Amino acid sequence: MNHHLALRIVLAALLVWACMPAHAGTPQVLVNPGAPIQAHFEYWEEPTAQASIDEVTALPQDQWQLQAEGEGTFGITSSAYWLRFSVSNRTDDRQNLIAELAYSQLDDVVFYVYSGDTLVRQVRTGDTRPFYPRDVDHPNMLARFTLAPNDARTVYIRIETAGSMILPLRVWREHAFYEAAADEQKLHFFFYGCLTVIILINLAVFLSLRERLYLYYALAISGYLLFFTSITGFSFQHFYPRAPVLHGNVLLLSMPTLALFSILFCLEFLRIKAHSPRLYKALLAMLGFELVYFATILLVSYNTAILLGAVSAFVFFSLLFIAGPISWAEGIRAGAFFTVAWIPLTVGVLATAGRALGFFPENFFTEHAMQIGSGLEAFILTLALADRLYREREQKFRAQADTLREEKARSEAQNRLNDAMTHDPVTCLPNRNRFEWMIDRQLAEDPDGHYMVGVARITRLDEINRTLGLSRSERLLKTIAQQMMELAAKLPITHAIHDSQGRIERVYQLSGDSFGILVDVRKASGDFTALDKALKQLSDPVQLDNLAIETHPRFGAASYPQHGDTAALLIRNAHVGMEMTPHGRFRTGIYSPDHDIYNESRLTLLTDLREALNQNQTQLHYQPKVNLTSGEVVGLEALVRWHHPERGWVPPGEFIPLAEETGGITELTQWVVAQALADLAELHRDHPTLTMSVNVSARDLVSSNLENLFETQLRRHGVPADRITVELTETAALEDPERGLKVLQALNGLGLRISIDDFGNGYSSLSYLKQLPATEIKLDRSLILDIDASEGSRMIVATAIRMAKGLGYQVVGEGVETPDTANLLREMGCDMLQGYWVCSPQPLPMMRTWLAAGFYAAVDRVYLAQKR
Ligand code: C2E
Ligand code: CA
Ligand code: CA
Repeated sequence: MNHHLALRIVLAALLVWACMPAHAGTPQVLVNPGAPIQAHFEYWEEPTAQASIDEVTALPQDQWQLQAEGEGTFGITSSAYWLRFSVSNRTDDRQNLIAELAYSQLDDVVFYVYSGDTLVRQVRTGDTRPFYPRDVDHPNMLARFTLAPNDARTVYIRIETAGSMILPLRVWREHAFYEAAADEQKLHFFFYGCLTVIILINLAVFLSLRERLYLYYALAISGYLLFFTSITGFSFQHFYPRAPVLHGNVLLLSMPTLALFSILFCLEFLRIKAHSPRLYKALLAMLGFELVYFATILLVSYNTAILLGAVSAFVFFSLLFIAGPISWAEGIRAGAFFTVAWIPLTVGVLATAGRALGFFPENFFTEHAMQIGSGLEAFILTLALADRLYREREQKFRAQADTLREEKARSEAQNRLNDAMTHDPVTCLPNRNRFEWMIDRQLAEDPDGHYMVGVARITRLDEINRTLGLSRSERLLKTIAQQMMELAAKLPITHAIHDSQGRIERVYQLSGDSFGILVDVRKASGDFTALDKALKQLSDPVQLDNLAIETHPRFGAASYPQHGDTAALLIRNAHVGMEMTPHGRFRTGIYSPDHDIYNESRLTLLTDLREALNQNQTQLHYQPKVNLTSGEVVGLEALVRWHHPERGWVPPGEFIPLAEETGGITELTQWVVAQALADLAELHRDHPTLTMSVNVSARDLVSSNLENLFETQLRRHGVPADRITVELTETAALEDPERGLKVLQALNGLGLRISIDDFGNGYSSLSYLKQLPATEIKLDRSLILDIDASEGSRMIVATAIRMAKGLGYQVVGEGVETPDTANLLREMGCDMLQGYWVCSPQPLPMMRTWLAAGFYAAVDRVYLAQKR
């Protein structure tokens, strides 16, 4: 039972047309007891296909040619072939024999069994007629005949077929045939079963993953299955025995089907397009050819179709054969699988070819080489697909884990940033910002309460620093902070809150040497002995490295509501109280307005400021803001300067808070806005794109009519609104969030740009900042300060920049004093910078000169920084 598979067709078509050697020998088949029957035969090719059996039996002997192997492949031919062989029974038993042409695709076959000159049996079969009736229920061409002892038969077979004239003749004892047929059947079921399982698995994977790859593979294997079942006649016998036309066409269609989907699978599986454009083009061309072939297959003649199929199978096979190693060489893992999978198929094809050509002997392996090869191929590729599935899932898991890790790192960095902005770097205590925020919140929650803000200052810290050195005095500070926390924890009257990470806050660090607590006076009910005891302990010398160090703390306090109704004022007054005559045993100075020496001088200072504003003793200095990548000067920031007739230069850090507290800020801002816009209008003549940043204070948002002010001044100086940026400190906006937001929106409505100043030095509730109509964020000087030196600061600034950019802000770095800092900021993605390194704040005339020359100077500097 021989099977002639894809390569048979290739071979038939391409290689072995009519190259049949003739062998001399006995045209006899002898049946000895038990011995296998050797089927030599003689044949006669009859080109006209007209001869009758009588003419053939009368042929002279020299017309017959011997085929010693009992098997012949004659290619595609329109001739009819006649086969002749004789069998004689040399046994004592009657023999039931079967003559077989072991190829299921022959169109028309007639067996004539002669006893001497008498025709004893005639069997007509072939696959162009309905499957049944058949002499034997089997897809191959079979005829039974019997031989009495010492009897002989001569059998003539006439074959006419489209497709290949493949004639493997066997003669069987009946029982041997059935045994072999049953074995063959088992093998078939196993092979088809395996392919079916592979198809189903891949279909299931396709349905759940929706990846075309698996569908292509399932369809390609279905093509194989179709091909094998139809070329063996299995499907004809079992599925459509009444439809011989269908049978012929299924075989034809199975070839382009399997090729088409194999190519699609290969393209997708090996990602050919990405690495081998030429192979990709070749496979696409092949794909196109297979499509055309598929479409026209039923239109051309059967023989043409078979021929095309053979040629295309040859090209297809070669292309896929090289696709594996090429992809493998390109580093595609699937390429290795593909190569390995294609090897058994190649071996199978070669073995089948070799057997067909007579190079290899007939045995189980050569006979089933194609099935074994294609089965192994399908199996290895299924493994490859499973491997791919596994790896993809692994990758997905890994990617998920990576994202989780990244997210964690990001949130950790955010927490660190938050921490850095709200905690003291040395003691890790919450800082002044937190303290103010905590007090304001508490007062807002409990406006009728009675509270006391207490501050402590280590008055000898400077001296200690000088004698002990910085690192030891830092340790001293830590020790003191620790002691304060422990003491406060024992005092239920100190107000305590939890921060967002669940840490408890009781003691705050207001500056390098001062600390603060909030005392709930009502909880004390007049009894402050515990507090006094704690303060006494704090006044005792601190033990450090076997030294008892006198810290000389001083304590001050201010009460709510008597001494103030905001945190800022209460803290200030508590500090003032510290300077006053101490009450009680432990040097606690309680604030009293009568003794507020600062009040007086501050009041005169304020009067002076008002006067200065009127008499133009104040002036504006300008500091450029440059683009970090282009070096271009983007704009100027207006910074107020005041030269006091007696005191000399008063720094804005001194009089601006004062003006804010007393309401003088409104006039200051009015003057600044008017002056800055006038100057800008003038500068625009030479630098029409220049912008101007003006600082606006928290109080302005509440008390000044900023909208009106800007509208008037913009109109008056004819400056476009989008050239003005309003800089607002982060904390300023927060004091009255709702009101602040409204005013900012109004300013934004005028066309002004909003910038968040001193970012990183406030509460930085990002969720609030996000609501502001701001487009720019200025990183606070204190953050930038030591990024050259400290990895931690770098990390914090990098995070701040990433976060700000993520929210769509332009980022300005402030206080840049060195090229290293500039360079670091540029690497972190900062957009603009300001600082002494580019230019310190300058009066207008000098700024004008600088702008004329400095534009290029700034470009050069940034450029230099980039080249470093
Ligand atoms: P700011 O808005 O953050 O202004 C930047 C401050 O950093 C300015 O201090 C500037 O001179 C200084 N500066 C610039 N580059 C560097 C540098 O490279 N290194 C260092 N160490 N400092 C640099 P200034 O002029 O003393 O102003 C202090 C603060 O006063 C300003 O901080 C701003 O909040 C406020 N201020 C100044 N002018 C006005 C104003 O007209 N109106 C209002 N409301 N506030 C103002
Ligand atoms: Ca500013
Ligand atoms: Ca600033």
